[in-house]
Amino acid sequence: MNAVHNVMEAAVEDLLDQQWENLSISCHCETCKLDVYALSLNRLKPHYVRDQSGRMYAKASLMTTQARATILTAITESAKVVSAYPHH
Ligand SMILES: [Zn+2]
Repeated sequence: MNAVHNVMEAAVEDLLDQQWENLSISCHCETCKLDVYALSLNRLKPHYVRDQSGRMYAKASLMTTQARATILTAITESAKVVSAYPHH
C-alpha cells in the first residue's frame, strides 16, 4: 500500500530541519532528532493523500501560519520530553 502518503511526515521533517539548531533540547544528535520527529508525529493528526498532486497540495496547506504553529508546538513539546527522558 505505497499509494497513500502521510504528508504530515514531510511537513514535520521540514520544520524540524529548519528549527533544529534553535530548538531548546539537551542533546542535538540524530537519535534525539528522530525521537522528536516520531513524538511530534504521534501528537499531530496524520494527513493522508493518495497521489503525488494531492501530496503537493496538502503539503502547501500544511505550511500555512496556523498549521506551522501547530506543528512547531508539537515539536517544542516533544523536545521537552526527549530532553527529560533521552533514550541514550
Ligand atoms: Zn542525543
